[in-house]
Amino acid sequence: MIKLIQISEIFGPTIQGEGAQIGHPTIFVRTAGCDYRCVWCDTKYAVETENAKSWHKLSAQDVMSEIERLSQSTPMSVTLSGGNPAMQDLEELIDLGHEKGYSFSMETQGSLSRNWFAKLDALTLSPKPPSSKMETNWQEVMDCVEVAGTHPQLSLKVVIFDDQDYEYAQFAGKLFPDIPLFLQAGNHRVESDQKADIPGVLDRLRWLAEKVASDRWKTARVLPQLHVLAWGNERGV
Ligand code: SF4
Repeated sequence: MIKLIQISEIFGPTIQGEGAQIGHPTIFVRTAGCDYRCVWCDTKYAVETENAKSWHKLSAQDVMSEIERLSQSTPMSVTLSGGNPAMQDLEELIDLGHEKGYSFSMETQGSLSRNWFAKLDALTLSPKPPSSKMETNWQEVMDCVEVAGTHPQLSLKVVIFDDQDYEYAQFAGKLFPDIPLFLQAGNHRVESDQKADIPGVLDRLRWLAEKVASDRWKTARVLPQLHVLAWGNERGV
């Protein structure tokens, strides 16, 4: 039986705007559906079932064909994002892409571990801090690290809006001292409109950078969301 993947959108090439792969040209495959409901989620169109009319169920082969069309068959990086892409079975897609020379990076909050994580080239675990209003099951995050094993380049990314989020990130850093940790200045509030508040984003970035520097937190890396600085909250870039 063909396993279908629930897709919200496939677009690119663009650049990866976040985390360890920041700046790399990539094709984005955004799966639909998420087991979380973060208050500041910026991809609600891929999360809320009221948007399901715009989602498509595609076979791994169909997703791969679209990746090849967008990349003009030039093997490159593919970013698997969501929603929570761990809700889908992406093993066949990863296998198909690898056969053709593509590499796969994925970001997930770490709430669901899957054996196929070990086939990824890079895995970013982005547990959600208190400002999201979600609870982190750290055991699940640890399970994700364990199933990923040694092949994917692992990293942690924590979005930071306030001091509580910062303390949460410090806890994550202590729990996973061997995994590179990226701190990303948050820029979305559910009550805001969809336009990015660039001065607000830069203010928070400066606040975060100064806090990390004054704490001499030498293992943390502070990043903005590059694509937000370049394109605001536009979809499909
Ligand atoms: S985990 Fe990500 S996609 Fe899911 S609700 Fe939170 S921010 Fe949105």
